[in-house]
Amino acid sequence: MKKTNIGTEVVWAGERDYLAFGATQVPVVHSVSFGYDDMDEWYEVAIGNKKGHIYGRNTNPTVQAFEEKIRILEGAEAATSFSTGMAAISNTLSTFLYPGDRVVSIKDTYGGTNKIFTEFLPKQKVDVTLCETGNHEEIEDEIAKGCNVVYIESPTNPTVKITDIYRITKAAKKQNALVIVDNTFATPINQQPIKLGVDLVIHSATKFLGGHADALGGAVCGEKELVEAIYHYREINGATLDPMAAYLLLRGMKTLSLRINRQNENAMAIAKYLQTVDMVEAVFYPGLIDHPGHEIAKKQMSNFGGMLSFAVKGGVDTVRHLLPKLKYANRAANLGAVETIVGPSRTTSHVECTPEERAAMGIPEGLIRYSAGIEDIDDLIYDLKQAFDALPKES
Ligand SMILES: *Cc1c(COP(=O)(O)O)cnc(C)c1O
Repeated sequence: MKKTNIGTEVVWAGERDYLAFGATQVPVVHSVSFGYDDMDEWYEVAIGNKKGHIYGRNTNPTVQAFEEKIRILEGAEAATSFSTGMAAISNTLSTFLYPGDRVVSIKDTYGGTNKIFTEFLPKQKVDVTLCETGNHEEIEDEIAKGCNVVYIESPTNPTVKITDIYRITKAAKKQNALVIVDNTFATPINQQPIKLGVDLVIHSATKFLGGHADALGGAVCGEKELVEAIYHYREINGATLDPMAAYLLLRGMKTLSLRINRQNENAMAIAKYLQTVDMVEAVFYPGLIDHPGHEIAKKQMSNFGGMLSFAVKGGVDTVRHLLPKLKYANRAANLGAVETIVGPSRTTSHVECTPEERAAMGIPEGLIRYSAGIEDIDDLIYDLKQAFDALPKES
């Protein structure tokens, strides 16, 4: 049978079983519980022998349609969902980690993830080693010392560094470690980590999957046995995705392919433009040939994504003048929406860190994160240009 392309899957996948009353759109089922007149049927559903729903903290039809769509897009056996991306990350780690276990990851994970590694897991007596992002030898050496979980994010926040997912997964498998990849920045349109051998793929659906900055959510995809264990943790601990949010995310995902293709193009054009601007010291985008992760990105991604960052001369002062002048950008902490979003790294992804910590992570104080929206590229470039032109002249 001919394999369906992902641009068609984003529109159709996962919805058919959830269309009731001849509806062509997945209904939002707000009911907290699901009733049964037949006591035996109720029991069969409750113990999982028969399909159906019991209570909204466990399962819900609208939420399941969302899980089914992301499962198909990531090419996974199973998927489950969460109230936020951070819930997906923390519940997944809590499902598999025990006191005395060891995690190997990178320094550049999402700020919240980094806090789990540095603040919360140590409290549970889990040892965490964070390697220099992009230093594959160091990551492999740490993995070889023995570990239970290898956690990767690629590309990363905010300097869009790239980790070779296949290479690190191979090293992890030698230690029988579970490999988890946060695929939020790439989305399944640009990168499918399960094809590279990883066990679990995590998303903050809040970002590109939903795409409209109007719903929080998270997802985990992978082998059935692993996902069932994570689902069990979540159904008891309660970080359940709300049905209305699931609906908004599902609706957003129908245009995922259109949006990401446009955002890929816009980000590349913006990155190339920024390289020509005098006030810009450095541009970070994996699509640029001088980006240190470019070759790996080319190998493991079908395109380079909508996220980039750049450092301006004059540091925080320039940022303070430049960003308010942009007409077509929200100055906000999120990313991956249809509107362009900008923000200084020191107030967005790495607000929890001190200036010294940020410097140690290679994050200049004048670094600006840029999430390319779906606007017309001419307008985005013009907008940046007028903002740079209006900067106070250096005396
Ligand atoms: C935003 C984000 C998260 C956290 O997701 P929330 O939905 O905000 O909880 C995790 N990972 C990455 C890469 C993110 O950008």
